This record gives sequence, C-alpha cells and structure tokens, in this order.
Amino acid sequence: MSCIEIRNLHANIEGREILKGLNLTLPKGEVHALMGPNGSGKSTLSKVMAGHPDYQVTAGEVLLDGENILEMEPDERARKGLFLAFQYPSEIPGVTIANFIRAALQARLSEGEELDAVEFYQNLYKKMDALEMDRAFTSRAVNDGFSGGEKKRNEILQMAMLEPSYAVLDETDSGLDIDALRIVADGVNRLRGPKLGSLVITHYQRLLNYIVPDHVHVMVQGRIVRSGGKELALELEAKGYEWVIKEAGLEVTPEPANG
Ligand code: ADP
Ligand code: MG
Repeated sequence: MSCIEIRNLHANIEGREILKGLNLTLPKGEVHALMGPNGSGKSTLSKVMAGHPDYQVTAGEVLLDGENILEMEPDERARKGLFLAFQYPSEIPGVTIANFIRAALQARLSEGEELDAVEFYQNLYKKMDALEMDRAFTSRAVNDGFSGGEKKRNEILQMAMLEPSYAVLDETDSGLDIDALRIVADGVNRLRGPKLGSLVITHYQRLLNYIVPDHVHVMVQGRIVRSGGKELALELEAKGYEWVIKEAGLEVTPEPANG
C-alpha cells in the first residue's frame, strides 16, 4: 500500500527524549489530523520527518512507500515526495516567492535539466488562480513582513507547486484569523485527492471544522495514545486533553504556553 508508516520512532533533542516510540500510518489519499497538548512533540515529529539536523533519531523507522527515509538527506526526502509546511516559516528578504519556488523545482531536476521558464510561470499562475491568490504576491520577498495568513498561503502555494505525495502541515492555523483560516483550509481541500496524503497538525479543533479529517490521532508525551474518526476531535474540544492522558495511564503535566 502507498503510505507513510512510522514505526517505533524515538528521537532526542539536546539529549532529551521527545519522541518515545511513536507509531502512525498515513495512507496516500487520506487526510489525518494530529492533535495533542502543547509540548507533546508534534512539531518535533514533523522536523524529524523532514530531516532537521538538530534532532537525533535513536530508534525506529519512517517508511515512505516502503523505503526508510531517515537515512536520506532532507532534499532527497523532498524528491521522494515529502513536503513540510512549517509552524513558523522563515523570512528570506531579497528572494521573491516566484524565484524561491522556481529554485525549489529546479533543485529536484537531475543535473543538466533546465526548468522551462514559460511553463513554470503558466503553472504558477494556474495554481495561484485556483487558490485565488493575487499575482502580485509572487514578486514579494518570501515571508518578509507577511501577516500570519500570508505566510500560510505562501506555504500552501509552495505545496501546490511541488505536488508532494505526502504533506505534513504543522499548525497551519496558528495565528490566523477566521477568514485566513478559511482560505488556508480551502487551499488544503483543493489539493486533497487520491495522489496526496496529508498530516494536519493542530492543537485546536477549529481548523478541523474546515478540513474534515479521515482520521484523528492524539499525541501525548511523544506517543500516539489514541486514534479515531473525526468525532474524536469534537470530543477533545468538548472535554479537553486530560481524560485521554489519564486513560493512557500518563501523568497530567501543565502545558507550556507555546509549542
Ligand atoms: P508541540 O509541537 O507538540 O507543541 P514540540 O515538538 O514543539 O511540541 O516540543 C516538544 C518538546 O520538545 C517541548 O518540551 C520542547 O520544549 C522541546 N523542544 C522542542 N524543540 C526544542 C529545541 N530546539 N531545543 C530544546 N528543546 C526543544
Ligand atoms: Mg508545535
């Protein structure tokens, strides 16, 4: 089956274990939500999947269509079809969005192959029209002085252009007002389909009113402690996280304010 399969994943940062034996399967064609209290390791998981150098994997596998990607460099993972939308996207003053995306696409081609500029812009504008984005957007520097909503739209545009097989969207809703949230959710929904598996990471249920997941996983203290259908997200919204933590036999610790 085409899927991402995470098996018994353990990972450390600065010698502290954050992921403690995480198991999760994301089939292509489905949207799975990953929820959990702040500090439970959701962003850590996304960074470990993408190959962030600060995190050490001490055990386990991440299989993408059967191939362990943990031994690959980040760019190789991207070429295999993995895309990560960051919780806090970086600003790159002086580099326009169009040039940035063009470089990303060019980097995926083999040596000597040249991206066709005309085709690139045709494709870019087609995708922007579909996402209802103003064309002037692409001549702005990447995330430079962008609002929270604009940063997230930029991530969605990159995703539309890179056409990944699997996308991990980390807290795509953080810092968004309700209109921006709708736009982003709409973008994700438009990209939804049999060729894409998405892992939508969110602390709050709010985003899941707009992106209705096929499956919901709850992460606590570095593990998935419960999985279920979309109704699980509603239950968490109504009752909070404490009961799941207790039922998993874990201790309830105060949540850090930001994660
Ligand atoms: P979440 O996204 O679920 O809120 P994170 O993955 O951001 O959780 O954080 C999990 C834990 O890892 C937290 O206790 C956090 O303090 C710690 N952590 C995350 N990134 C770093 C880092 N770069 N250096 C040290 N500790 C970190
Ligand atoms: Mg996070």
